[in-house]
Amino acid sequence: MDLLNTLVDKGLRREPLSRAEALAVLGTSDDDLLDVVAAAGKVRRHWFGRRVKLNYLVNLKSGLCPEDCSYCSQRLGSTAGILKYTWLKPDEASKAAAAGLAGGAKRVCLVASGRGPTDRDVDRVAGTIKAIKEENEGVEVCACLGLLSDGQAERLREAGADAYNHNLNTSESTYGEITTTHTYADRVDTVQKAHAAGLSACSGLIAGMGETDEDLVDVVFSLRELDPDSVPVNFLIPFEGTPLAKEWNLTPQRCLRILAMVRFVCPDVEVRIAGGREVHLRTMQPLALHLANSIFLGDYLTSEGQAGKADLEMIADAGFEVEGADQVTLPEHRAAGGGCGSHESAGCGAHEGGGCGSHDSGGGCGSHEGGGVCGSAATTSSTAAPQAGEARTDLVAVRRRGAGTDLAPNA
Ligand code: SF4
Repeated sequence: MDLLNTLVDKGLRREPLSRAEALAVLGTSDDDLLDVVAAAGKVRRHWFGRRVKLNYLVNLKSGLCPEDCSYCSQRLGSTAGILKYTWLKPDEASKAAAAGLAGGAKRVCLVASGRGPTDRDVDRVAGTIKAIKEENEGVEVCACLGLLSDGQAERLREAGADAYNHNLNTSESTYGEITTTHTYADRVDTVQKAHAAGLSACSGLIAGMGETDEDLVDVVFSLRELDPDSVPVNFLIPFEGTPLAKEWNLTPQRCLRILAMVRFVCPDVEVRIAGGREVHLRTMQPLALHLANSIFLGDYLTSEGQAGKADLEMIADAGFEVEGADQVTLPEHRAAGGGCGSHESAGCGAHEGGGCGSHDSGGGCGSHEGGGVCGSAATTSSTAAPQAGEARTDLVAVRRRGAGTDLAPNA
């Protein structure tokens, strides 16, 4: 396909795609899907080899949020039966983080529900970052605490945070349909504050909320302009008890096309598969590793992921390798500051971050609400093959272990 040859060439040279090209990727047929994955996989391997970066979520404070993000199980008025608890103590958070690091993660994402932190909250998180860094040399720490006020990003940086996640989630034109208690501009402002403070910016999206292809291209192009180092791609986990509970719009094929589009638009950026990986990609998860170079290990914020051991086996079986703590994630031109690769890069013309992002997408951080997942409680109860876009509530399991419980975390 001429289009794919062109996109590979552009990806290897970090040349920007046109909107028409990005839309064309989303519009490819299932017959062309493996060709699309192979093409985007060439770009992924050029910049990231066969490495997979593992990230580990620690939900510092769960539920009871005053904001109304429709996708979030922690939102105002949510009746989802999620864990609800206030701030973990530094030693509790450090213990949870240690489990993820022992499982192979190199980045810990500290997430808290809420509109944004108070200065006292920032002090509290600073103590947690210190505790985690004292116990785990070389660990990358990303904070995801919502909207930041002036000076807070700088204080987190001084406390040792390497990165800050805040997702754009969806296009500017549809943002008001998803959330009314804050604006798209508020989110952009926080990503810019993190960037300006010297934190590695992480910002991504949630797919599957009823958006159009144009919306997806809009948000990915907006991310490109913000130039985050990592872009988490969440696939909505339609939690019962939230306004988007009926939005089962995604198929594994659609998820792969979205990841391929993000890879082509942001070729040299850490693209992370976040919440909804197990729910929507299901048995196609290994193919997605040819597109994304980063995933979350184990559970999400409010939902369970597949067993951490299964994540590691999948990576090995697909012919990939877990990225080591001594390996720099980003390509040299982006990782000028070393470490997790930072914002000093020239950028790809696009920035897209991944990571946790928002507090809620159905999944990872980025959002405060992670998605649910399978793995444990979520085993399939039917032997019938799923139909395109069919509701798979059997694959959504509310998190009942790890942070905020007495049970061991999944890592
Ligand atoms: S995404 Fe974050 S701000 Fe929005 S409702 Fe969930 S916890 Fe609150």
